[in-house]
Amino acid sequence: MPPAPVLIVGAGPSGLNLALALIRRSVQCRLIPEADGPGEESRAMVVQARTLEFYGQYGLAAEVIERGVVAETAHVREGGSGGSREVLSISFKDMGAGLSPYPFALAYPQDDHERFLIEKLKDAGCEVEWGAKLTAFRERENGIRATIEHNTGRVEEAESEYICGCDGARSCVRETLQLGFPGGTYEQLFYVADVKIARCFSRDLYINLGKHILTLMFPVRSSGMQRLIGLVPSELSHRDKLGFEDIRAHIEPLLDIKVTELNWFSTYRVHHRVADKFRVGRAFLVGDAGHIHSPAGGQGMNTGIGDAVNLGWKIAQVLQYRAGKSLLDTYEPERIGFARSLVSTTDRAFTGLVGEGVAGEFTRKIVAPLLFGVATRFSPGRHAIFRTISQMRIHYPDSPLSQGVAGDVHGGDRLPWTGVHAEDNFEPLRSLDWQAHVYGEVGKDLEIACGELHLPLHVFALSDGTKDAGLKRDALYLVRPDGYVALALLEQSVSTLRAFVERFHLRFQATCYPNRIGHNSKAEQGFGNEDRG
Ligand SMILES: Cc1cc2nc3c(=O)[nH]c(=O)nc-3n(C[C@H](O)[C@H](O)[C@H](O)COP(=O)(O)OP(=O)(O)OC[C@H]3O[C@@H](n4cnc5c(N)ncnc54)[C@H](O)[C@@H]3O)c2cc1C
Repeated sequence: MPPAPVLIVGAGPSGLNLALALIRRSVQCRLIPEADGPGEESRAMVVQARTLEFYGQYGLAAEVIERGVVAETAHVREGGSGGSREVLSISFKDMGAGLSPYPFALAYPQDDHERFLIEKLKDAGCEVEWGAKLTAFRERENGIRATIEHNTGRVEEAESEYICGCDGARSCVRETLQLGFPGGTYEQLFYVADVKIARCFSRDLYINLGKHILTLMFPVRSSGMQRLIGLVPSELSHRDKLGFEDIRAHIEPLLDIKVTELNWFSTYRVHHRVADKFRVGRAFLVGDAGHIHSPAGGQGMNTGIGDAVNLGWKIAQVLQYRAGKSLLDTYEPERIGFARSLVSTTDRAFTGLVGEGVAGEFTRKIVAPLLFGVATRFSPGRHAIFRTISQMRIHYPDSPLSQGVAGDVHGGDRLPWTGVHAEDNFEPLRSLDWQAHVYGEVGKDLEIACGELHLPLHVFALSDGTKDAGLKRDALYLVRPDGYVALALLEQSVSTLRAFVERFHLRFQATCYPNRIGHNSKAEQGFGNEDRG
């Protein structure tokens, strides 16, 4: 058998998602994590709507949602270790209604999430090779030669066309490429604990913000436990060994809970860094290997998954000779810009929330409640916050792959969803392939051109949903395999479409979808407002 063309180093959420993106497109890969088995630590707790939309493309979203807990309400508390009280309750219900088939955030611990992906990869014939550590690699004329040390003691020299460093913050791939990882480390020490509490399992989210205080409590459906994440009191943060009992008296009053059972407890420091580059030749950085930031906002894991989705379809198309190699040049500019802005925003938010002095106090006591107050009352405010936190706002305006504007939709934007009451324009995205969308009437020339190019063409009826989404009547939208708009043209210009296709040497394949999408697939996409829970 020829060697798999893609070597994925690491099987965290980024590596597993990259493997999924390749395997679902029939591209073989090897997945080699140093770890001996799946992660036991839950770490990331929140799966954002944009990530669920990607899982919707694979037909996996319904299962993921079933295994997690849809976060409906957040209880904001105030007060210290001497006692606290609830000052605000924020409803997340319908926060993103009409914007996404998944108008909520999902609490789904990272360890459960990783096991789910491992299971799905296994079903697709891709086995994770546990206990296989990358120790070195070099690029040669036609590919990569990597040295892998197996936990059995065997040392292997492996060949591949590409190597993808999904190997976390201490990435061997990044270090071998001698790339800088500038940034810093926050002074504060975080704790994370899995606990049972005296009152019954709560599906809600609890937050306590105060001077030197940041404490969160999430639900974990699979174990019926609660996840606690927060800041260790500064007077204890320099201790050599710290256990849950050392901080129990500090935590319990903050959330008004009594912990009856402890599953695990750990402490960690948070960094904020972005690598100088995400690609050198045939080597790529994905996820924490390329960027790390504070957990404020629940963005880290979701950003790594977004990287993997972005890179996966591009490598697949290049390996299948369905696009020129220049397609791979678009990965770094599309993802590094977002990583840099995310690191600076989470840095500002984190420093504002937990920092010393007036700025921190002001953010916690005045800005945060105001923001949440607006967010709970007015739909535009709620939608704006949802778009940002859910990662729906991520777009690639400066990418070489982005061109034109039609209606409110620019080349590089996420294809807007047309809502539960319109024909479901996300349904065809399940082909995981390029496609043309027209909302209104399609002209004969475009129909002929799409036929000749083997480009699937989907025509949708106009509706309030298409109008609200900002899609322009009769415009042409060329949609990428990851659901972003590449080309947005007011006119159905066949020559512009053909020039774009030529520029990237794209070759399309007709898919099994019907020309006209006449139904909503409620089974998978239909987590509309009435079906949630
Ligand atoms: C407490 C905590 C809470 C968090 N909360 C959130 C949240 O709510 N939302 C969110 O989005 N993010 C959150 N994050 C961040 C999130 O956990 C990370 O962003 C995510 O794990 C990154 O995934 P990854 O696959 O890139 O890397 P990792 O999960 O770090 O995986 C790295 C993989 O590489 C392997 N590896 C390492 N070196 C080698 C080598 N030399 N050879 C082979 N394999 C190797 C490891 O075995 C592992 O499989 C949180 C993080 C922490 C610590």
